[in-house]
Order: sequence, then structure tokens, then C-alpha cells
Amino acid sequence: MRRAFISPSKYVQGKNELENLGYFVESFGKVALLIANSDDIKRVKTQLDYTANKFDISFVESDFAGDCTHVEINRLKQLGNYDCVIGLGGGKAIDTAKCVSDGKNLIVVPTIVSSDAPTSHCAVVYNEDKTFSKYLYLSQNPSVVLVDTTVISNAPTRFLVAGMGDAISTYFEARTSKFSNSYVDAGFACGKEAVATEAALAIAKLCYEIILRDGACAKISNENKQVSLELSNVVEANTLLSGLGFENGGLSIAHAVCNGFSLISDTHKFLHGEIVAFCTLVQLVFEDIYNTKYPDKIVADSTNYLKELLPFYYEVGLPITLEDIGLCDDVDLLMRVAKKACEKDSCIHSSHIPVSWEAIFNAIEVASTTGTLYKQDAINK
Ligand SMILES: [Zn+2]
Repeated sequence: MRRAFISPSKYVQGKNELENLGYFVESFGKVALLIANSDDIKRVKTQLDYTANKFDISFVESDFAGDCTHVEINRLKQLGNYDCVIGLGGGKAIDTAKCVSDGKNLIVVPTIVSSDAPTSHCAVVYNEDKTFSKYLYLSQNPSVVLVDTTVISNAPTRFLVAGMGDAISTYFEARTSKFSNSYVDAGFACGKEAVATEAALAIAKLCYEIILRDGACAKISNENKQVSLELSNVVEANTLLSGLGFENGGLSIAHAVCNGFSLISDTHKFLHGEIVAFCTLVQLVFEDIYNTKYPDKIVADSTNYLKELLPFYYEVGLPITLEDIGLCDDVDLLMRVAKKACEKDSCIHSSHIPVSWEAIFNAIEVASTTGTLYKQDAINK
């Protein structure tokens, strides 16, 4: 079977790394289009000025409007006369920079690590009314992903923890995609269908292990604005390992159920990674319940992973119940979520165990009940 693997050309991460941004700009030319919110630019103005002077480069400021829309992308494309594009900040600035550059001569500088989008070759584009328009797949991954851990350590801890939630799902989704020989995004970026490499699965597993090992310490470091070894490891896991893991290893139940929850406005105040974290519990519960029907492709350790994840989530503050993501046990609402998750073209069908909306509905309820019981036990201890 055909296998494929894609990645950014360069990934660099370190304390005060923004001071080296000019080095990477210089590899393309002297002028960079800077796509970032004005608040984000203010936060790192000193470093931007420093690197511009040191490497004798300049930035074209874009007055980024804040959303990755077709109108904004077209406006920025007209600005012209630059050698490379920088997307600096959170997901929207980064996605806009991806679309303006089509991935070519693109430097991505995340200032928070709340999701694994920075390294990927896809972007989410919105309509003017802020509703979802489409996923855009670029011709290549970013040329450079530059992460300044000093900047990350000064960002609110909630972003780091949400990023851990997004990253934890990667291994379980890659694992089930691998069992089912499902096609991965990396293949389509290489011309046609391909399944995951062994490398992708190994990266996804390492991502999981680092977060479970270092996540709690990394959170404390972030709270104290310290760039510890653990924080650095988790930043790498949230960004590089999770990013490579999902594009090359595949998405499945956790992200499909997350898409289902996006129908419900009560969940919109939660970050993507927070919702995905709960949806990973749903995937593990689903595998745990329905494994027995498919003994030839058993993932017998889903139960063990659940036992490992619940205390970790509880410790770092990731959601373990529906209530934690702003919902109650509303049957009609959860049926809508489950049906949306199981739509025909959903990534949920990468699961090695065939899914039905009824089974996913059941898994959501069981996951939340399991979380509630865990919490009660933990409080009573
Ligand atoms: Zn995600």
C-alpha cells in the first residue's frame, strides 16, 4: 500500500527564538509581510524590532482584520512586494498567512500552543458572517515553524492545557486509522491516496507519552512563566509531534465528535483542544464497549488508557464530563451531535470498528457518566 509523510521544512523552538526570525526571513529576501493582530504585535514588538535591525530586514504590516475570510485573504494578496509571509499569533492569523502564501515562503510563529495547526498544510476559512466556509489545503506545509518558548511561557496557561487536549487525541486517532488502513491527509498532498507511515504512529505515541509524563509540570511552569524542560517538551508535543501525528497518522472519532459538538453554541466558549480532550474519552469508551465484537482487531488497552487519562485530565483541568464543556445530558441534543459526527464523509469512518450514530451517542453518555463518577470519587478521597 502507498504510504506518505509530509512536514514543514524547518521547525525551530527555543527561549527568545523570535530574535532569530530575521535569519529565516533573510533566506527568502529582505521584506516580510507580517500577518498578526495588533495586540500580538505589541506583545512582541521589542523582539521584532531587534531581529529587524540585527538581520537588516523589514516587515510590511498588514492591519490584519482578525478573521481568516475570503475577503481578507484577497485583500492581503494585493499588498505585493514582499519576499515571504509571516503568520504570527493564534490560529486565525496563522491560517490567513497560510492561505495568502499557499504555504510557499511561509514562516509560522505561534504565540500560543493551543492546537496542532501551525505545522499543517491546511487552514480553516470563514465567511464574512463568521460561519465556517471550508478547509483549504495548501500546496505545501509551512517553510519554517518558529516557536519562542519565552513568549509561550508568558501566555495564559489555559492555551497550553487545551493544546495538550488536542495532542492527546493524536495517538488514539492515528492508531485506529492505522488498524483500518485509512487514507491520511499526507497522501492527498502527495497526489493521491496513501496510508500512514510507521513513523507517523511512532510520533503520535511519543506525543502522548510526553504529555502524560510532563504535562502537569509544564502547566505549573507556565503558571510561573518559567521555560522548564517539561514546558519545552510539551510545547514540542503540542506543536510538532501532534501536528505531524494528525496529518500523517489520520483523524478519527475524537475529531469527528468534536465537529458534532460544534453544532451546539453552548460549547463555543470552549477551546478546540478542550472539546477534543473530552471526545478522546468518548473514543476510548466506544472502543472499550465495542471491541469485543471485533476480536480480530482488538485494542484491548483502551480501558487502561481511560484509567490513565482520567486522573491526568482531573489534575491539569481538562474536561471529563459533558458539564465540563457547558452541556447537560440532553438526549435530543446529543443525538444531533452523534448524527453530525457520523455523516457520510466524516473522518469518524477511519475507525477500525464500524461506527453508528447510536453507538457514538451511547459512548458520549457513558464517557460523561464515567467522568462524573471519577470526579465524585476524587472529591470524596
Ligand atoms: Zn485538533
